[in-house]
Amino acid sequence: MPAAEPLASPPVVPGSARPLAADGRPSLIGLDVDALSDIVRPLDGGDAKRVRLRARQLFHWIHHRGAADFGSMSTLPEKLRRSLANGFSVARPEIVAAQVSADGTRKWLLRFADGQQVESVFIPEEDRGALCISTQVGCTLACTFCHTGTMPLVRNLGPAEILAQILVARDALGEWPVPGEGGGAVRRLLTNIVVMGMGEPLFNYDNIAAALRLAMDDAGLAFSRRRITLSTSGVVPRIEQCGRELGVGLAISLHAVRDELRDEIVPINRKWNIEALLDACRRYPNRRPITFEYVMLAGVNDSDDDARALVRLLADVPAKVNLIPFNPWPGAPYACSSNNRIRAFAAIVEAGGHASPVRTPRGRDIDAACGQLKTSSIRRRRTPGDAAAGPAGCAPMSVTAL
Ligand code: SF4
Repeated sequence: MPAAEPLASPPVVPGSARPLAADGRPSLIGLDVDALSDIVRPLDGGDAKRVRLRARQLFHWIHHRGAADFGSMSTLPEKLRRSLANGFSVARPEIVAAQVSADGTRKWLLRFADGQQVESVFIPEEDRGALCISTQVGCTLACTFCHTGTMPLVRNLGPAEILAQILVARDALGEWPVPGEGGGAVRRLLTNIVVMGMGEPLFNYDNIAAALRLAMDDAGLAFSRRRITLSTSGVVPRIEQCGRELGVGLAISLHAVRDELRDEIVPINRKWNIEALLDACRRYPNRRPITFEYVMLAGVNDSDDDARALVRLLADVPAKVNLIPFNPWPGAPYACSSNNRIRAFAAIVEAGGHASPVRTPRGRDIDAACGQLKTSSIRRRRTPGDAAAGPAGCAPMSVTAL
């Protein structure tokens, strides 16, 4: 299969208000202060300074305080709030399904204004929690171990649709700053963002960059770039740009150490092979170790020779290896390596000088494999009463915290 060409739909122009929820009104979520100034100017009048002040207040309410309606924006004049409510929206996308695992993992299936759906997953750890967000509806890349890879790419997500996944998670976790609690000094469960849900983020670079800039804005969601990690299957020309412009952590879906095998299980390798990918990693401007994701597929990529080859490949790359037990989804063509095999593989990689934690599968009691909640939701709609979505898998890409 040839490697897919990048964009199947044009990027949304950052700063343009488009409907996000079913109410059809253009959403102000995902707009920066400049774009909000353009919205406020004809509604509120006043000089440039006043317009800028109102736009900053509006930005604060939407992206820092998490206001989901204009009525609660108490620092804005009532007339402006009414005008905004007449023409715009800060409503969230519809939550089609929300699941909570016994281990605390949460998953949401969201529906946007045009009916398209994506998933996001929250994975709590003892002292932090990571939200895994999606960047495309479906994916072009068809990695053979990935459930999302079985879904054709429908379109890219815009900045608001990417950002809204974070807003929905903060809503559910109750983590918006409350007045009187130190202006935001609440303890947060959602501390990290991992861009490794549905889709290849670097095939939707402009939109993910716009969304992450807003997520990192101190006046808004204020995530440190050190707490954001973007995972790519290997879109080599965008990797350095991502590091230079966004400075976020990088993860690579490696999964194979020989081109012959990687061509098959991560087909983008036919366009940019392992050598080109590792060259890009060596040039990545961020000095933090790069995380290499390696899904353990029984009898496919899990031999001692594979482990030794992995150590050689990463010899001059600041790297950490995440070993991910494969958790099969219905129809998956692979089985997971045995625990003994995974341990033996990890020991070789550790002895080679790279940390290689084995990720604990999360959310096994919910539809936690990337793309699985969406598929089972569709199945349930077609077959009322069919709740047998099967044992949820832990997606290689989505349900592993970094
Ligand atoms: S692993 Fe990522 S890039 Fe590959 S098919 Fe799945 S979502 Fe797409």
